[in-house]
Amino acid sequence: MPAHDVLIIGAGLAGQRAALAAAREGASVAIMSKVHPVRSHSVAAAGGINAAISVDDDWHSHAYDTVKGSDFLGDQDAIEVMCSEAPGEVMHLEHMGVTFHRNDRGEMDLRAFGGASMKRTAYVADITGQALLHVLYEQLMKHHETVQRYEEWFTTSLLRDEAGGCCGAIARDVRSGRMEAFTAKNVILACGGAGQVYKPTTNGLIVTGDGIAMAYRAGAPLMDMEMVQYHPTCLVETGILITEGARGEGAHLLNSEGERFMEKSAPNKMELASRDVVSRAEQIEINEGRGVGPGGVGIHLDVTVVPRKRTLEALREIVNLGKDFAGVDITREPITIRPGQHYIMGGVKTDVDGQTPIAGLYAAGEVACVSVHGGNRLGANSLLDTLIFGRRSGEHAAARAASMAMPEVDANAQLRRDADAIDAIINRPRDGRRVSEIKNELGELMNAKAAVFRDEQGLQGALETIARLKEEADSAWIDDRGTVFNQDVLGAIELSYMIDCAETTVVGAIERKESRGAQFRTDFPERNDEQWLKHIDITLDGDRPKVSYSPVTITQWQPEERKY
Ligand SMILES: Cc1cc2nc3c(=O)[nH]c(=O)nc-3n(C[C@H](O)[C@H](O)[C@H](O)COP(=O)(O)OP(=O)(O)OC[C@H]3O[C@@H](n4cnc5c(N)ncnc54)[C@H](O)[C@@H]3O)c2cc1C
Repeated sequence: MPAHDVLIIGAGLAGQRAALAAAREGASVAIMSKVHPVRSHSVAAAGGINAAISVDDDWHSHAYDTVKGSDFLGDQDAIEVMCSEAPGEVMHLEHMGVTFHRNDRGEMDLRAFGGASMKRTAYVADITGQALLHVLYEQLMKHHETVQRYEEWFTTSLLRDEAGGCCGAIARDVRSGRMEAFTAKNVILACGGAGQVYKPTTNGLIVTGDGIAMAYRAGAPLMDMEMVQYHPTCLVETGILITEGARGEGAHLLNSEGERFMEKSAPNKMELASRDVVSRAEQIEINEGRGVGPGGVGIHLDVTVVPRKRTLEALREIVNLGKDFAGVDITREPITIRPGQHYIMGGVKTDVDGQTPIAGLYAAGEVACVSVHGGNRLGANSLLDTLIFGRRSGEHAAARAASMAMPEVDANAQLRRDADAIDAIINRPRDGRRVSEIKNELGELMNAKAAVFRDEQGLQGALETIARLKEEADSAWIDDRGTVFNQDVLGAIELSYMIDCAETTVVGAIERKESRGAQFRTDFPERNDEQWLKHIDITLDGDRPKVSYSPVTITQWQPEERKY
């Protein structure tokens, strides 16, 4: 059985940064990913990464903007860690070889982003995630002697020892179908978010909440699951993202009357208010009949006000996306967008070193909830979150590993159980519903009932439907009965992970009887600090979600009314 000091599940930015940090501390590291690491979803990140690196800036200002963006639900100790360590991390990236955009003076250029009080987003055109991920992967190759890469391995469950600590995982080699148990002194979950729970979403097909569900099933608490971010600018048909960098460069949002409607809800920041505020403002325009395009379900994003040369240089990827997916040349005409699911603020509850309440189990990146984003994440703070808390988790896990022996664990029973479960899926009779049908219904349900606006009736109805989908998923059938690259069977497992994520999201949304950040309850339209300035934690109790609360950490910024 392979054994490592630190086993990292996920090879996006959080996972790779954790691996580098743990390897530099001298640990033996394994990094596992269900796809080739540079196909991890971090590669899609576009607009940039925040850090107070300008001489006029200060990390306290970045931290305050983040606290305000979170609608005061973010934990301020964690936000202070993230923002104070951001400049050093971005410089470290540059020293490793990330070719950040430079201004005419040769300094690192910074662009404006939503909810920020000044320009503080470093970027590589609109392919920042790709640039970062490839540089980290290069670095990882240098550590090939201490970092074992398990590329195209799919984790099915976490291993726990008799004392309840996490001591490894079970995984399937996607190429051959072989199952294997891995022992580890520490496991870091870096499995990304759960965007595919919604349809449409800006997230790729692989973003299915695996890490969240595996941790939940192993007994770890989830936190802030009700907080789901809708990004203001997604293509109407497909949900593909048009980066906030477009508004950062000066693009306008217009309704069917040609009005810059953001003046009504955010007269100071206009299009660069925080995402929850802009998405709600757009949805109100659409709901009140001032939308554009077929059915009036869209809003115009007008990039033509940005100088064409600048658009072609700094936003070249969305120029291509506009042409390829909407048939629109954004340098010459407005493009139709609308709010779309983009990010989950919630996830596996951790401390600032990535530790979950389960000994030996860490989480970092979008799978985790530290919570630095609280009710609403600021654009360009996620890449930062992945790197800061990825690094901290790697360092902490390596230090912990140095002081302990390799756990002795008999994983045979769990290995057999997971292998049998896969065989059972493959052998299901072809009646009942297909996995893909259930997934579609789930995504459309969540997009209708747990979106920008929510209410009790819609959420309760969603919970009932999720219970039915859960039952149907237990017997849903697939086509592929082979072992080599059987993505079908992995899709069935991913569906079960997504159902856990959907259920906990809806349970959290029902529980929070107020409006804060991304959660807007039409039946409770006000923020209510007296009762709801607290996190909602959800654990698995038998086979049902159980709710409890934990306090929000406030260090220097008392809650106040949020105005942009
Ligand atoms: C279109 C788009 C643009 C964005 N732009 C920005 C931006 O400009 N700035 C910003 O700050 N944020 C941005 N974000 C958000 C940000 O990109 C993500 O939150 C972040 O990259 C997540 O990184 P991660 O390392 O946590 O997860 P991911 O990059 O999603 O990696 C997850 C890893 O886990 C692995 N994995 C998952 N399940 C399993 C399993 N069962 N077994 C084995 N491996 C598994 C995957 O293979 C993958 O390697 C954007 C997001 C999208 C969708």
